[in-house]
Amino acid sequence: KTFKDLNLSKETLKSLDELGYSKPTEIQEKAIPAVMTGKDLVAQAQTGTGKTAAFGVPIVEKVNPKQKKVQALILVPTRELAIQVAKEIKELGKNKKVYTLAVYGGKSISHQINFLKKGSDVVVVGTPGRVRDLLERGVLNLDNVKMFVLDEADRMLEMGFIDDIEEIMSYLPEDRQILLFSATMPKEILELAEEFLNENYETIK
Ligand code: AMP
Repeated sequence: KTFKDLNLSKETLKSLDELGYSKPTEIQEKAIPAVMTGKDLVAQAQTGTGKTAAFGVPIVEKVNPKQKKVQALILVPTRELAIQVAKEIKELGKNKKVYTLAVYGGKSISHQINFLKKGSDVVVVGTPGRVRDLLERGVLNLDNVKMFVLDEADRMLEMGFIDDIEEIMSYLPEDRQILLFSATMPKEILELAEEFLNENYETIK
């Protein structure tokens, strides 16, 4: 299979080509079509498998770059991962003019607030603590979010982010797609899926 078989826009195919991705990895081949259907997803995937593009490609395909509102939110456990995931999604979205912002602790919050106020970023990648802070300050608005990703969900739970995650999820609109990526599938992850995902969610291993 090639990326062309996955019904992607010519802009996204161009971005994939520019990144040097010639064919989808196994997780991408399974996850991209599943996410494009609109279903919620629980995917077991290790780092290095291409999981970032597995959710990044459908995100850049589905958001509307002309609507200057945050339409996709990705939570990751660490600032390093926030920077890395944002970088890859920026590259995937480049030819569609989908703009992505990374928000994380340890960096000036006023800077991040100024970017959010401009409103040009339609994808936000962030760590749970900083995202919650921005929500509570009323500068991050999730009313137009249609896709929400928990990346490395097991690590986020291990790091004690469950309260932040549940608080953040309370801001999401009713009609949204949730994608949960985790290297391991402990009971807590499955419980989280049962509680928050649509009951007919897709599972990928
Ligand atoms: P990830 O699992 O998302 O951390 O990705 C691991 C590495 O694989 C990253 O350096 C990506 O740039 C790269 N990668 C992702 N998808 C592909 C692909 N389809 N072909 C080649 N490399 C890829």
